[in-house]
Amino acid sequence: MSFNVAIDGPAGAGKSTIAKAVAKKLGLIYVDTGAMYRANALNIIRNNVDKNDKEKMIELSKKADISLKFENGEQSVLINGENVNAFIRTEEVGNMASISSAIPEVRKAIVDTQKRIALENDIIMDGRDIGTVVLPQADLKIYLTAGSYERAKRRYRELTEKGIECDLETIQKEIEERDYRDMHREMSPLKQAFDAVLVDSSDMTIDEVVDHIYNLCLQKKGV
Ligand code: C5P
Repeated sequence: MSFNVAIDGPAGAGKSTIAKAVAKKLGLIYVDTGAMYRANALNIIRNNVDKNDKEKMIELSKKADISLKFENGEQSVLINGENVNAFIRTEEVGNMASISSAIPEVRKAIVDTQKRIALENDIIMDGRDIGTVVLPQADLKIYLTAGSYERAKRRYRELTEKGIECDLETIQKEIEERDYRDMHREMSPLKQAFDAVLVDSSDMTIDEVVDHIYNLCLQKKGV
């Protein structure tokens, strides 16, 4: 039986940073499911699809072959054989991912791939619906969150450090819009699974959150 940890939570809560660190400490594969929705969104953007044209999004998503590759602890996401890691981390792609991932037909194939990966590997998987839909039987479920102002500040710092000009208020507004869309969509909305452990990272350092989740994993593994 594989060991599965699910981490869900809103944009910017620190899921990927934390999951990567915990994965390293425990020798688990870190699976970033957002990257799959982002790759799909990139394909939609590259095809100049209007953000209201659901039919076209469905058609493109059905044709797209999205897969993950793992090498030296790093995940690559491929769409139709092309590694698109370098192109998916923009706000534009994140927002289109949030819009297109609300469509049930877009989620179907992606969720099947995620379930298969979890069945075959010891993994820590992050996303929005991992504990509720993708891995309802996960050994451990975490719901990682933080206030929207705190999350916007983190994102602002990240972008500024990269030399990208941005505006804190706009980022907070976009984060809140994305939260709203992710939490209120009909299919697989972001919510805390009834058996998930709530971790609010607003006043915690990264190391504190990593240690906390690492210890919860050890307890579940019975170490
Ligand atoms: O986590 P990340 O910001 O990369 O995710 C981008 C978008 O993809 C999210 O805002 C969400 O709408 C969607 N997503 C999802 N289900 C997941 C992971 C991400 O719907 N499991």
